[in-house]
Amino acid sequence: MRAKRTPLLLRAALCALPLVATAAEGETCAEAPRECAEAACKTSLTSAYFAAMLQRDAASKPPPVCPPDRYRLGRYSWTLLHSIAAYYPDSPTDEQQQAAAQFLRAFPLLYPCKDCAHDLQIAMASTPPRLGSRAEFSLWMCELHNHVNEQVGKAPVPCDLRALDEAWRTPSKECERAQAELAISAAQ
Ligand SMILES: Cc1cc2nc3c(=O)[nH]c(=O)nc-3n(C[C@H](O)[C@H](O)[C@H](O)COP(=O)(O)OP(=O)(O)OC[C@H]3O[C@@H](n4cnc5c(N)ncnc54)[C@H](O)[C@@H]3O)c2cc1C
Repeated sequence: MRAKRTPLLLRAALCALPLVATAAEGETCAEAPRECAEAACKTSLTSAYFAAMLQRDAASKPPPVCPPDRYRLGRYSWTLLHSIAAYYPDSPTDEQQQAAAQFLRAFPLLYPCKDCAHDLQIAMASTPPRLGSRAEFSLWMCELHNHVNEQVGKAPVPCDLRALDEAWRTPSKECERAQAELAISAAQ
């Protein structure tokens, strides 16, 4: 009888780990999809987790897709905003700086939580984006997020470039281990 195949995304993720015995007999890591070096375009372990969860839930009725509230919208938006800053060039061209400035000008005009957007516009007017480098942009974004944290009664996060990079661009060993455990537990 043919062995059950490991889902593609999960196989890709497990193949990325040096010490994990992965696929079912006959499968090779060479079959996994190609990846690029940066975390944001990897077939990540988190994707593997979602793929495994989807496969597990395939037999049952899928949950409805519900509109995000301000918390979910906020969390995912911060993920995008911090990631854009983390991947910004160290020495951006004029064009890249203009693109970032335009994006940030448009963001509060389009942000679906209108009272969040109103406060954001005021905050950005008093502390305009610093877009001269990746470090400047990342630290400015962290400070902006802390400003919102303060407004909503959350504790500030220290704005340190190394910690920001670990959170938004270059996963620490601890992150990789945690994501691997998640992927493996979802596959069981
Ligand atoms: C532009 C914007 C404006 C918002 N305005 C409002 C508002 O006016 N009122 C309101 O109720 N909600 C607002 N929100 C939503 C709010 O900021 C949170 O996203 C929401 O409350 C969910 O919080 P959370 O605990 O999931 O963590 P989030 O605040 O969403 O943060 C996500 C993760 O980012 C990390 N993090 C936290 N602070 C920083 C930082 N300073 N730098 C880098 N990483 C950090 C933490 O690991 C955290 O788990 C806004 C969101 C956005 C994107």
